[in-house]
Amino acid sequence: MKVVTTKKELISWINDFRKEGKTIGLVPTMGALHEGHLSLVKECKKNTDIAVVSIFVNPTQFNDPEDLKRYPRTPEKDTSLLDTIGCDLIFLPTVEEVYPEKDTRKFNFGYLETIMEGARRPGHFNGVGQVVSRLFDIVSPDKAYFGMKDFQQIAIIKNMVKQLNYKIDIVSCPIIREESGLALSSRNTLLDEDHRKNAPHIYATLKKARNLVARMSVNDLKKWITDQIDSNPYLKTEYVEIVDDTTLQLIEDWREKNNKVVCVAVHAGKIRLIDNIIL
Ligand code: AMP
Repeated sequence: MKVVTTKKELISWINDFRKEGKTIGLVPTMGALHEGHLSLVKECKKNTDIAVVSIFVNPTQFNDPEDLKRYPRTPEKDTSLLDTIGCDLIFLPTVEEVYPEKDTRKFNFGYLETIMEGARRPGHFNGVGQVVSRLFDIVSPDKAYFGMKDFQQIAIIKNMVKQLNYKIDIVSCPIIREESGLALSSRNTLLDEDHRKNAPHIYATLKKARNLVARMSVNDLKKWITDQIDSNPYLKTEYVEIVDDTTLQLIEDWREKNNKVVCVAVHAGKIRLIDNIIL
């Protein structure tokens, strides 16, 4: 496994792999890796010859400076984990390497950035667009792998791929959870003991909600989920939405014939967690 920190080295390796006729898969991450990230890399290894993983805490996608400051960083542990699962190439750049100059590009994701994470985290998806497009330009992968935990992010990336005409296949991978049901997240390590113990209540509620669809209206189910989560003194919902799984249009009536997904953002003390479940 090779670990590189500059675009020049990365491009040179990519060119060598391309000369050998190899296909390339990219897994963009912000590090502090867990089994969720590793599942993406394993999927990538199954479908492409070379798995490239980027580890970069992208400052332009943080709308809260405190969140950026406390974001966990564990590059040595990440590198050795990736080595054990057969990753081929890690890109571990500095901020200056990715952004030699300020990125002033403004993406227009239309409706997609007006709801849920887009509405609550101004500039977040613009930063995601900036960093992912840079990574796509440097690596020019055949496929790129993203987790369904960040459900809205996948819709944003697919939209960007269309807008910028990338010939890259975007692969969505299922959410990996711990036994308690809590979705794995780098931010889980920041939870204190009490919030950690209570955080599994989020997914437990989403699972119960799935069985209530036939018995409640969309709005009543949203309210039921909110009340259930908020009944736990360690948790406070920021939003609960039920949306179409591709357009992310808000669902108002169960009779709409599309696949539906419940998306939530929940504060567990100072830490903000997101999760979702497909109905
Ligand atoms: P992050 O490092 O949080 O930016 O995440 C990097 C990638 O890993 C994103 O595509 C995430 O959606 C994905 N990811 C994070 N947590 C999980 C999880 N629990 N299961 C599956 N994928 C995940």
